Amino acid sequence: SSEIRLAARPHGWPTAETFALAEVSLPDPEPGQLVVRNLFMSVDPYMRGRMNDVKSYVPPFQVGKALEGGAVGEVVTSTVEEFKPGDVVLHGLGWRDTAVVAAKHVVKVDPDLAPLGAYLGVLGMPGLTAYAGLLEVAEFKPGDVVFVSGAAGAVGQIVGQLAKLKGAAKVIGSAGSAEKVAYLTEELGFDAAFNYKDGPVLEQLQAAAPEGIDVYFDNVGGEHLEAAIATLNVHGRVAVCGMISVYNATEATPAPRNLPLIIAKRLTIRGLLVSDHSHLKDEFVADVAPLIASGQLRYSETVVDGLANAPEAFLGMLRGENTGKMLVKINER
Ligand code: NDP
Repeated sequence: SSEIRLAARPHGWPTAETFALAEVSLPDPEPGQLVVRNLFMSVDPYMRGRMNDVKSYVPPFQVGKALEGGAVGEVVTSTVEEFKPGDVVLHGLGWRDTAVVAAKHVVKVDPDLAPLGAYLGVLGMPGLTAYAGLLEVAEFKPGDVVFVSGAAGAVGQIVGQLAKLKGAAKVIGSAGSAEKVAYLTEELGFDAAFNYKDGPVLEQLQAAAPEGIDVYFDNVGGEHLEAAIATLNVHGRVAVCGMISVYNATEATPAPRNLPLIIAKRLTIRGLLVSDHSHLKDEFVADVAPLIASGQLRYSETVVDGLANAPEAFLGMLRGENTGKMLVKINER
């Protein structure tokens, strides 16, 4: 079996040298464990943080050890009653061809209910992040003008559409290419969108929202957050979900430089961690699954083929090569 290991901790941007593909012989499963043949794995921005030797809300990856992350696979061998060979499951040991994993850390998914990639995206962790961040953390209400950055990514594409479906007065998105901007306005129903690489975020945001914004869903940080603070209306709310513009930075970025406006505008700026919102999971699936089935909520995936290409998929995601959720297909079902 093969696995991808952290070969060296990156300083700044990860490179091909950050990763190593290794062959391993798998141990027999102990009582309580399953052997799972992985079908899809997720590459996520938070994995960049785990490559640093810093204690955070998840422990750092270990040099020389396999990386980890969300994956969907098929049970090959089971030592417990609850799982049978052929069951399709979601678990946390991606970055490998085959996982030997504790059954208590595995959940069954229904391969007939949704395409497998959805369990790592729209119906999985990124979808719940969008849902909890918009509704609970940003306290969205109908009539709000909503701005979301990273809008064509896994989380952002859901945030904007949910806001629209739940009665936003206007939804504005930013993303890093003309194709993504067209995806947002032409396919996902965003009212306005702009390419942040075309010019200052502040100018483009204020042109799109002359009335100001009420909610900012931040996936990016830096200049985007500064522009949002400048554009938010009094009592505006920010859900700080991610700051991908600084994950590879080697020095602190100056923006946002306008924090005193938080006082003048009585803004609420709240960090969000999806794991705090597991209580919303059932409600989220009950709310969102029918919207997907009816075609009211759309989503994209970008699928890279082959475990050996997972490092390139991860780097490509950091560079913005994905539209929607970035996935790696490891095996055919
Ligand atoms: P995406 O699918 O959005 O992929 C990352 C995207 O970030 C890229 O496609 C790229 O798109 C964009 N990007 C990269 N660099 C920059 C930059 N310098 N400035 C602006 N955009 C950039 O990832 P996810 O949807 O999985 O995650 C989105 C954000 O949400 C991340 O910040 C992530 O860390 C965070 N997150 C937080 C969670 C939490 O619990 N707090 C849970 C899940 C995600 P483009 O072409 O537009 O540049």
